[in-house]
Amino acid sequence: MKDLTHWIDGGRTDGTGTRTSPVFDPATGTQTGTVRLAAPADVDRAVDSAAVAFASWRDVPLGKRVEILFRYRELVDRHRADLARAISAEHGKVFADALGEVQRGLEVVEFACGIPHLLKGEVTPDVAASVDVHSVRQPLGVVAGITPFNFPVMVPMWMYPLAIACGNTFVLKPSEKDPSPSLQAAELFSEAGLPDGVLNVVQGDAEAVDLLLEHPTVKAVSFVGSTPIARHVYETATRHGTRVQALGGAKNHLVVLPDADLEGAADAAVSAAYGSAGERCMAISVVVAVGEVADRLVPAIAERTRALDVGPGLRDPDDPANSPDMGPLVTEAHRERVAGYLDLGTGEGAQLVVDGRGLTVDGHPDGFWLGPSLFDHVTPDMKIYADEIFGPVLCVVRASSYEEALTIVNGNAYGNGAAIFTRDGGAARAFQRDVTAGMVGINVPIPVPVAHHSFGGWKDSLFGDTHVYGPEGVRFYTRYKAVTARWSPPTSTPARGVDLNFPDAGS
Ligand code: NAD
Repeated sequence: MKDLTHWIDGGRTDGTGTRTSPVFDPATGTQTGTVRLAAPADVDRAVDSAAVAFASWRDVPLGKRVEILFRYRELVDRHRADLARAISAEHGKVFADALGEVQRGLEVVEFACGIPHLLKGEVTPDVAASVDVHSVRQPLGVVAGITPFNFPVMVPMWMYPLAIACGNTFVLKPSEKDPSPSLQAAELFSEAGLPDGVLNVVQGDAEAVDLLLEHPTVKAVSFVGSTPIARHVYETATRHGTRVQALGGAKNHLVVLPDADLEGAADAAVSAAYGSAGERCMAISVVVAVGEVADRLVPAIAERTRALDVGPGLRDPDDPANSPDMGPLVTEAHRERVAGYLDLGTGEGAQLVVDGRGLTVDGHPDGFWLGPSLFDHVTPDMKIYADEIFGPVLCVVRASSYEEALTIVNGNAYGNGAAIFTRDGGAARAFQRDVTAGMVGINVPIPVPVAHHSFGGWKDSLFGDTHVYGPEGVRFYTRYKAVTARWSPPTSTPARGVDLNFPDAGS
């Protein structure tokens, strides 16, 4: 049984808390570990350690920071399989998918390696006689990250590599459902030469989160998780004067126009809906089928859905290509919650075309299984449409026109991602302009921006102003300062008296 601790001041530590939380292998349903939940003294210790480390880390030259980041990049690359195995063992996602997660996290580390370029300010020489103006971006101090269960490597990597590259120090509070990968990642960063205290990992639940949000030393908080908690995090942090970006839940739509490549759209819908068992904030959970396309599209999706291979994430870790298509859900409680929506939707009048309940997986009778499920004739007034289900359940809504489809997408409370499949460039162009979502795909079902752009949604999918990673991440983790300086030539006469005017060409 794993005993999962904190990582504070460069080493594993049990902490002083007495509460713990169980960690499961979702494929077998057995408890494989216990994670220690932080007490207030543990949170204080992590923040204090980060505050002490900040005093010297902010002065570490950029070239030296980059050296450490490069070494970290190499170590993560070398340990891809170990990290992916840890993800699959606690989250349940299939090994190939877990490897993909590590890759996407690594890309943000690589982006952070460009920090000398990213921190370059701007200069305007000669705004007045002998006066120049330049801007700099300075680190904030101690910043915190609070992350969800569904990407235990990638989502933390959206945050701490860039925050640390900018000169901040970091306290990470990962999900208590899959805490191991964060400890492994912190150990690797330490091995890369990161000074003690620059990255700390505090295990915990709501109590640790609230302590971080209210801590006077914590200058900024990045949060990724469900919408109700994101709203709570945003409101609490702003009340305490703390800079915050809080990314919430999603209900991502894929609009399929009648002229689309139907087979391609069906493939995309199935991969985007059921990959990672639908436990992805960028999963497609609604297909909006326009015009007569639904009658052809629904059978094509149903056929592919029934053929999906569901099994344990680590069925064949030596051969990622032999991974199942989909693993179990993360916990028994979550499986029950998602399965509950299948009853609910049927009661609401939707047509359950594929029912994933009752799925059995050979040799794994107690895993948290739920097969991929498909609803047709869903309408926007139904709860299965409005709620984020966060499982392998795809809803098809039928719309009579492009305009109606757009009205449906824009009427949804969430605005993370939205995609359109069409061969009509004009429709695609109008869609990317008019849709109220932060990330848009055109013939791409999961439009997660690459690491040198930024990730984030609109409406109830993000509270705050800046998206994560990429250029917006650099802005979030730094403060802007403008410096106006006069350096008169050696021959000039010193000014006399008090001059309250902005320097101009004559002064
Ligand atoms: P969650 O909101 O339950 O938990 C997220 C984090 O908040 C965890 O670290 C958890 O310990 C903490 N937390 C839980 N309850 C809390 C409370 N009452 N007060 C303070 N902190 C609390 O989310 P989850 O179930 O771990 O992850 C799934 C959710 O995350 C989904 O809604 C998904 O859409 C969302 N998500 C969003 C994005 C995005 O980029 N927008 C990315 C990944 C996941």
